[in-house]
Amino acid sequence: MKYFAIFGNPVSHSKSPLMHNLVFRGLNFKGCYGRYLLKDGKKLREKFLELGLDGINITVPHKEEAYLACDHLDPFAKRVGAVNTIVNRDGKLYGYNTDALGFLKAIDEFQDIKKVLFLGAGGTARSTSSILRDEGYIVTILNRSEARLKSFKDDGFETYTFNDFIPEKYDLVINMTSAGLEDDSLPAPKGILDRVIPSVKACVDVIYGKETPFLKLAKFYSKPTKDGSDMLLYQGIIASEYFMNNLYNFEDIEPKMKRAFN
Ligand code: NDP
Repeated sequence: MKYFAIFGNPVSHSKSPLMHNLVFRGLNFKGCYGRYLLKDGKKLREKFLELGLDGINITVPHKEEAYLACDHLDPFAKRVGAVNTIVNRDGKLYGYNTDALGFLKAIDEFQDIKKVLFLGAGGTARSTSSILRDEGYIVTILNRSEARLKSFKDDGFETYTFNDFIPEKYDLVINMTSAGLEDDSLPAPKGILDRVIPSVKACVDVIYGKETPFLKLAKFYSKPTKDGSDMLLYQGIIASEYFMNNLYNFEDIEPKMKRAFN
């Protein structure tokens, strides 16, 4: 039996145990996936090994700590400094980032998109902004506080806080924050969103399983919306491929994992 879990804080809302257990059961893979409330991200490696796990996913707010906890990093994870999937191979921790690829696949349905505004500058914004730029999108980052913007600025992104933001016309605006996950807050002041949303083609939220205040506002402006469910599904499928050592491919895993969303 192989043991897996999701580490995060909060973690009780996570669909990952259901998604992965349905895959293990559906493919007759001897695996079991649970959840672990990790309060102190610095203890991630210690807890992983203490619990005798074979692999984990990492959710908010520990993706940067997860990156630091690995012995080996996939080149993309190394570049973006955020890890959401770790596999234990002979006591060494191998880190990957499946969020970014999952996100890219999830926004594939939106056509003629060039300029994208990110609300938020955490681990998820870091990985997804990089992959979007690799794919030719122009990404602007708007964050509540200054500190997290530095690495984006150093990496050549246009960055703003709420205080110095100069809105332009964007094709897509994406909530990359955890605002609305556990509370009813908007990811940016309403005055800013009221200036940005009316001219975008669509609004996307990475939060899944609920209609956030951000998506409600987008609907008020009659914009097409999308929540984080597809991103969650696709990042989960790619993580599952790693967990099962590529014994099964994307097409094998997708129908099993999708049942978690029915
Ligand atoms: P981090 O903790 O790394 O970053 C959080 C970000 O949210 C920071 O930019 C922070 O701003 C901002 N923020 C938090 N609360 C507020 C608020 N009330 N108002 C404005 N800004 C706020 O988180 P992650 O990047 O790991 O995750 C971000 C979101 O993405 C989470 O909601 C997570 O659930 C979701 N997610 C969804 C996935 C999916 O598959 N659908 C996959 C991965 C993540 P500041 O710097 O000022 O603190």
